Amino acid sequence: MLRRAGPSLRHFLLERKSSAGYSSYSSEAKMSRPVQARRLEGIDKNIWVEFVKLAATYSKVNLGQGFPDFPPPDFLKEAFVRALSGENHMLHQYTRAFGHPPLVKILAQFFGKLLGRDLDPMTNVMVTVGAYQALFCCFQAFVDEGDEVIIIEPFFDCYEPMVKMAGGMPVFVPLRPKAPKDGKLMSSADWQLDPAELVSKFNERTKAIVLNSPNNPLGKVFSRGELELIANLCVKHDTLCISDEVYEWLVYDGKEHIRIASLQGMWDRTVIIGSAGKTFSATGWKVGWTVGPNRLLQHLRTVHQNSVYHCATVAQEAVAQGFQRELELYGKPESYFVQLPKELQQKRDWLVQSLDAVGMKPIIPEGTYFLVADISEFKSDVPDVPDSDEPYDSRFAKWMVKNKGLATIPLSAFYCGAHKNNYNHFIRFCFAKEEATLKAANDILQKWKLERTSP
Ligand code: PMP
Repeated sequence: MLRRAGPSLRHFLLERKSSAGYSSYSSEAKMSRPVQARRLEGIDKNIWVEFVKLAATYSKVNLGQGFPDFPPPDFLKEAFVRALSGENHMLHQYTRAFGHPPLVKILAQFFGKLLGRDLDPMTNVMVTVGAYQALFCCFQAFVDEGDEVIIIEPFFDCYEPMVKMAGGMPVFVPLRPKAPKDGKLMSSADWQLDPAELVSKFNERTKAIVLNSPNNPLGKVFSRGELELIANLCVKHDTLCISDEVYEWLVYDGKEHIRIASLQGMWDRTVIIGSAGKTFSATGWKVGWTVGPNRLLQHLRTVHQNSVYHCATVAQEAVAQGFQRELELYGKPESYFVQLPKELQQKRDWLVQSLDAVGMKPIIPEGTYFLVADISEFKSDVPDVPDSDEPYDSRFAKWMVKNKGLATIPLSAFYCGAHKNNYNHFIRFCFAKEEATLKAANDILQKWKLERTSP
């Protein structure tokens, strides 16, 4: 039994403080130096916090954040349940830090087949806590103070703060839209890099380029020609390529997703990043992976080992079984990787029609489950505020969720601070949603159109 001898610790501390002349209790004393590390300066604001909260408060229909509102396939859920409640109770314990053996083995087989090379599960694959942690490992492992990292705009927003946290300097290069031919809707393919502009961004400080194809938010699927341009520059300037391919299976209209690592000279300098969240419609499981040469992955392992260390065993086991099934059914109509894009393409077409009918001009995505639409025609409903710091599309998206109950994300969220006003009349919709959700969104838009057009 513990006995308290003499005055309590609290009493002792209070005594000490009053003898030192402090007027308040020590827990209220403020530190005078900044508590946050310098690497956090300027990256503390995050658009998702604000827009997710707005959607939770006001939305009747949420087409904002990128996740399906339909379940993952039965075979995947069943694999999870088997892993969770089956005989093998070791699945509740730690597994190999760099990836559960059954998962890295099947990923090596699967991606080996796609890339046409023999992959070693132990050195060419590493499992991460979602693609998010894979990205974090890459920037921490490769980027030093003063290194430049090229990011193609619009971009998945975490690339910029992650580069900065590693001490690097993001260098932005935009996809520039070309006007479509008369009367045609724009396609994500109309957004292209200016080759001369891209060339001008590479120099001896360029450590890496981040490529995201299919691209969030536009849905652009980079063509072979565009990838060759990037690859040639990477080889010429000895630059790494962080290739975020989380939407690799979500391509439409017979388009092909080309892996930049398969181009000449690129395997040795590319890390491929994938996500079971996007691949199997299970974003909450947070299973991701990296595939690449050991000379790069060995450094990702160092970061992973010393930060996260490990990803949930049961979820890895279930994803391994999901890939096993997909390997057996590869290319067949029953394959989830064939079925999911087919279903999503219908949803995309449906949303395209719905937006086009009300005058919110959609940019037809070639891939992903996102669609960006032009809101210019709706400007009279949400007037511009001259000299406001907030980009117009951000105010529009906030107004729309509060007044119409429809949640989306402004395109400016996918640009760096200096470029947020360059393309500020677009919003992003996520169409990985049940038919009923998309129908409810359509009802809101149709009703709004009637209100706007009736005298
Ligand atoms: N990269 C891109 C382009 C994404 O859109 C996302 C998720 N929205 C991620 C990475 C993160 O994926 P995960 O959920 O597997 O961490």
